[in-house]
Amino acid sequence: MKISQKYDVNISNAFSFSSRVTNAKIKVICGPMFSGKTKTLIKTIDTFKSAGKKVIVFKPKLDNRYAEEEVVSHDSDATPAVNVSRPVEIMDLFHQADVVAIDEVQFFDDSIVSVCGMIADQGKTVLVAGLDMDYRGNPFGPMPALMTMADEIEKLNSVCTFCSGKARFSHRVSSEGEVVVLGEKDKYVPLCRSCYNELKQE
Ligand SMILES: [Zn+2]
Repeated sequence: MKISQKYDVNISNAFSFSSRVTNAKIKVICGPMFSGKTKTLIKTIDTFKSAGKKVIVFKPKLDNRYAEEEVVSHDSDATPAVNVSRPVEIMDLFHQADVVAIDEVQFFDDSIVSVCGMIADQGKTVLVAGLDMDYRGNPFGPMPALMTMADEIEKLNSVCTFCSGKARFSHRVSSEGEVVVLGEKDKYVPLCRSCYNELKQE
């Protein structure tokens, strides 16, 4: 017996799916420092652009390591980006885009989670990239919630500075104690779990 005969419902009539909503999804790209998160984000953005989709890119205002109005990877791939201080500002700007991309998403407060959900509810694709763990190995800000709601997660590894194994940790080599300290290879080294633990014990 077919399911449509078994139950007195006609599924295709009960809901009208629009193709835009069906295609919407939330994708999280995450990993430690120097794992190619921004590079992967830019590559994904380019794929959508070449398929004729309109993409808008956001990043938190505090991250101005490379350029003001662009997202730039460590090996200098770049794409134009809008700097925003608070997630709510994204709500004013995303409407014309098919795809909303956000880099360094870990730096936003928890309201970024509902903002991403609302954008996806509008039938848009949401791509976010960020550090999954802070320098102490704790979940970084809104990342756990974003990964929970994501349809797709791409976890990237870096290369361990000491043993060349797969690195998941961003170890801070400078002495600052705050969670958010912007820096490059002068301040962070990617480490595997065993090298990270060994260093922590010293
Ligand atoms: Zn190692």
